[in-house]
Amino acid sequence: MVEAVTVAPKTAEHYDVLVVGAGIAGMEASLTLGDMGMKVLLVEKSPTIGGRLLLLSKVFPTLDCASCISGTKTSGTSHHPNVTMMTYSEVSEIRRNDKDGSFSLRYVEKPRYIDTALCTGCGECEKACPIILPKETEYGLRGRKAIYIPFDTAVPKKAVLDLDNCIFCGACERVCPADSIDFLQAPREHEAEVGAVILATGFEPFPIEKKESYHYGQFPNVVTSLQMDRLTGPTRPFNSILRPSDGKEPSNIAYALCAGSRDKTVGNLRCSQVCCMYSMKQAQLILGTLPAADVTLYYMDIRAYGKGFEEFYQQTKAMGVKFVRGRVAQVEEEKNGDLTVYHEDTEGPGGKGKSTHDLLVLSVGLLPMRGIEKVFKNATLELDEMGWVKLRDETRSPSETSIDGVFSAGTASGPKDVPDSIAEAASAAAQAVGYVLSWREKTGAAVGIPLPKSMPVPMPQAVEVAAK
Ligand SMILES: Cc1cc2nc3c(=O)[nH]c(=O)nc-3n(C[C@H](O)[C@H](O)[C@H](O)COP(=O)(O)OP(=O)(O)OC[C@H]3O[C@@H](n4cnc5c(N)ncnc54)[C@H](O)[C@@H]3O)c2cc1C
Repeated sequence: MVEAVTVAPKTAEHYDVLVVGAGIAGMEASLTLGDMGMKVLLVEKSPTIGGRLLLLSKVFPTLDCASCISGTKTSGTSHHPNVTMMTYSEVSEIRRNDKDGSFSLRYVEKPRYIDTALCTGCGECEKACPIILPKETEYGLRGRKAIYIPFDTAVPKKAVLDLDNCIFCGACERVCPADSIDFLQAPREHEAEVGAVILATGFEPFPIEKKESYHYGQFPNVVTSLQMDRLTGPTRPFNSILRPSDGKEPSNIAYALCAGSRDKTVGNLRCSQVCCMYSMKQAQLILGTLPAADVTLYYMDIRAYGKGFEEFYQQTKAMGVKFVRGRVAQVEEEKNGDLTVYHEDTEGPGGKGKSTHDLLVLSVGLLPMRGIEKVFKNATLELDEMGWVKLRDETRSPSETSIDGVFSAGTASGPKDVPDSIAEAASAAAQAVGYVLSWREKTGAAVGIPLPKSMPVPMPQAVEVAAK
């Protein structure tokens, strides 16, 4: 956490609900609350909103374009009159006020070294900057500059300067037509009062370097599923799927499923719930780009549990994707960069197998995004044994946490796909509204915008029923 030197504003801001994290779950919760007349403070730690979904290619099982789904949410969130969006900001402290069930918090706005009111997102600074670094939003497949716009559809589309890697050559400052570069910016600390909190802090991918036998980071043609989602996306870094070692189009691609999940040896026993389906999605997309390629999935079980998922599995098989039942044990690199994969084959004659491929994709598991539990100063946010936000009652109230008035949305409480993350976000929003209204009724307190006694905006469904 950066040290705050400026405190602004002096008086605390007032909102109905704080939403932490602006992935699909955080955006959905904010939009639902905003549409109900609630005043929302949405705090996102990265420079842009959208979370992981914005970086995906398409989504299973419909193969809808991911950025088209999230694009309506990012623009809706950024323009909503009831949503105050604070990007590149982190909550540093939350205290629950037992008197009226509300929360007092502090959050820090990190310096972008750009005056966002002036920056037009033209990208001239990026072109002028001489420093090239791996681009986080492309998982290192491409480079970015020390001053950069995170990606083309970024919201907000404002530059950010990575001061740690800046050589202070002044090139960006000289070309900026809006005169928006400000090397003297400092972190700004804000204080706020809110009626309820929604945690939508998402997940992080399993750090697959830990599974040493897969040699990720050592063998260039071992890539992760996150990288493959970029390589198969409509906004992909290259105009085809290319393998990293020599830029060749691969013709024999393998997938190792459950890479870093359901695996005692790396300490993550949990099924990541989305890996089977996203691997099949990627296999289909690969065949769209490279129709003559062979694609093999090494799997333990195929968990195609959702609506339309089994049909998607059958369709993937019908497209010629090979399924081999067995976990990948060891990977070796050949002189030409190809990879020999040693694996179980529980349906084959010997129970073991060995095959050579020119690209190996690791279907990495999901881990909780840690850290948010530390910001609660006078209440304990309980986590489950794997570190996900613990829910008070998984079956009957799937978004209540161990703290009254704090709710969880999306993958903060465990692996989920996009539709389930959206559904849980709507549930968290409804519960947060109920919490805020019940406290107001008890105490007469007016946190955020004043609400009339009845719900301010009738639900569209209720209006329809009433009309009938
Ligand atoms: C390779 C891959 C492919 C996938 N493909 C599909 C698919 O095809 N279909 C599908 O349905 N699902 C897919 N998924 C799953 C999908 O990515 C998740 O369901 C979805 O992204 C969950 O959204 P979320 O909002 O819960 O979390 P996230 O997208 O992780 O968003 C969380 C946000 O919170 C922010 N944040 C975290 N901590 C803090 C903090 N302390 N303060 C402020 N902000 C914070 C993060 O920066 C981030 O913006 C895939 C997953 C992977 C890994």
